Amino acid sequence: MPEPRTVATHCPYCALQCGTRLTCERAGVTVVPTDFPVNRGGLCQKGWTATSLLDVPDRLVHPMVRRGGELVAADWDTALGTVADRLRGLRAEHGPDAVAVFGGGGLTNEKAYLLGKFARLALGTSRIDYNGRFCMSSAAAAGNAAFGLDRGLPFPVTDLGAADVVLLAGANPAETMPPLMQHLARPDLVVIDPRRTATAERAALHLQPAPGTDLALALGLLHVAVVDGWYDDGYVRERTSGFDAARQRAMTWWPERVERVTGVPVGAQRAAVRMLAQAERAYVLTGRGAEQHSKGTDTVAAFINLSLALGLPGREGSGYGCLTGQGNGQGGREHGQKADQLPGYRMITDEAAREHVSRVWGVPPETLPGPGSSAYELLSGLGTPHGPRAMLVFGSNPAVSAPHAAHITARLSSLDFLVVADFVPSETARMADVVLPVTQWAEEDGTMTNLEGRVLRRRRLQNPPGHVRSDLEVLHGLARRLGEPAQRYPTAPREVFEELRRASAGGKADYSGIDYERLDTEALYWPCPAEGPDGTAHPGTPRLFLHGFAHPDGRARFAAVEHRAAAESVRAEFPLLATTGRELAQYQSGAQTRRVAELDAAAPEAFVEVHPDTAERAGLRAGALAVVTSARGEVVARVRLVASMRTDTVFLPFHFPGDGRANLLTNPALDPRSRMPEFKVAAVRIGPHPPGTTAAEEVPA
Ligand code: SF4
Repeated sequence: MPEPRTVATHCPYCALQCGTRLTCERAGVTVVPTDFPVNRGGLCQKGWTATSLLDVPDRLVHPMVRRGGELVAADWDTALGTVADRLRGLRAEHGPDAVAVFGGGGLTNEKAYLLGKFARLALGTSRIDYNGRFCMSSAAAAGNAAFGLDRGLPFPVTDLGAADVVLLAGANPAETMPPLMQHLARPDLVVIDPRRTATAERAALHLQPAPGTDLALALGLLHVAVVDGWYDDGYVRERTSGFDAARQRAMTWWPERVERVTGVPVGAQRAAVRMLAQAERAYVLTGRGAEQHSKGTDTVAAFINLSLALGLPGREGSGYGCLTGQGNGQGGREHGQKADQLPGYRMITDEAAREHVSRVWGVPPETLPGPGSSAYELLSGLGTPHGPRAMLVFGSNPAVSAPHAAHITARLSSLDFLVVADFVPSETARMADVVLPVTQWAEEDGTMTNLEGRVLRRRRLQNPPGHVRSDLEVLHGLARRLGEPAQRYPTAPREVFEELRRASAGGKADYSGIDYERLDTEALYWPCPAEGPDGTAHPGTPRLFLHGFAHPDGRARFAAVEHRAAAESVRAEFPLLATTGRELAQYQSGAQTRRVAELDAAAPEAFVEVHPDTAERAGLRAGALAVVTSARGEVVARVRLVASMRTDTVFLPFHFPGDGRANLLTNPALDPRSRMPEFKVAAVRIGPHPPGTTAAEEVPA
């Protein structure tokens, strides 16, 4: 009997990237957690059940091409030939920007890199972006401006365990990444969240601002830090610039004014600052709650201001960080699938960056297109007179995950040609003209970069079923059919990574000193140049900014930000605010986790959390269906009465399809810098679901 095969790898889902060991036995694949630093033997329910993904009943196992309105099985030659023919025709008729590419924050570094290269060279399109735009873009913009570098956590997760106090602004790790909570067991937690989440339940102090007011709260906390004398004058003078302008803005945010705007009592504001300032080791962490606003960049910047005033970033045992969401949310934004970036976190408008990357790719720099439009703008323009006529989607499900989902679904429907590469028939895949079945996590090698900026090996355990190919093989096959040299698109992940190393060399996210062999034995965090200062192998950079920030003068920048209202306010027609987020048993659009029986049983359908008083006024009963309506659409969801909810707020998770899609409600108002949509604030009304009516536009089956 053959020996069971075993590999050390990581969970397929979130950015914590918990370490696991997979074993393939006769009875199937089993998973156990490893003593990896981020999870130390822990997993959440999603991680424990992840092997179910390997044999979901509706796994895509052969290419499908739409004929006579139906998706029917086809061979690879037919499918790839169809795609290449249609793309070639549309490009010839409408130009290269007629074809768009939409990637995902779950793709390995190798896939993200090759997808960006494929878009720029094989298609020649500027129109590429990815769903990470909806996740981390505000923190990325604020982090780059403040520190000169964007790495979610500039320190290992394990550092948090020695902290005295951690402030979490708009993050709910107790539900989104439970194993992280073991690192937050010792510190006192200050949680800022409109909901009393599972994380807030464990907090020493919970500040519960109205949705969309956390920027005012952050300004008020800076005000308290300055006026009550808690700020670190020496640190501010020696390590930062721009304090005076930021302080002036904060000076108008008296605690009483902040209480009026946010609902957070003055005493709680003062207590939060006092806790942070008196702690020897303290951290400020932000998450999607701070980011997913039309002012998300300024909101994150305001929390960074607070952390700078208290002297935390770049200090041993203290700091500021952002909790990344998607599995490769960090690496996915470093290697070229973002509209304005080239590999190594280089800007596509930077002449030196274009020169470097084009040399690695063996093309003249002028071959590379310029920056494209951001995710929502790209999706919203599909099928419009000057917008893309075709789109290729890799590892994303925008029909469920994009804001203003009915509009985006209509735009997807209006395309001349839609291609989706996925391993399950997601809601977006079911709309496609061609569906390309690709490998998933345990069937492929590659690298992921977790929320700490640590690069990890994903290892293949078993072969994929049926006629499934890897995303790299798909890109290779398409590029070849589009007339590109075959060797320009390697299919072996290791070979792609070797090229990525060269392309990233000298960039902000420098991976040139990392290789698969080193990753087998070392913990490597970027930047990791090819050589260390003494000519030996660079050890990587677990902790950033200890000796200076990444701006040329080594100083961090305060941002002079000002509060502004959410893009949409309550009014007579829509008297409540809806906020959206995640729930423990589901992940992102749910395309994967809704197919796992245990997770489906734990969280089977859309729900809406409502305060009992709000529910009574609206005529709602616990467990009954409600219809939630915004200016953009309606959602049908089951009522959960939650006494800790604000009476002016309802909450919906965004994992569910059909008429339970929370994103039918969400507002696509964009942050001016990060282009992040306002997922967290929509004006709504709520009432009983009228029997016999259909509440929302259906996604075609
Ligand atoms: Fe997977 Fe994230 Fe859960 Fe860890 S916390 S098991 S990485 S989903």
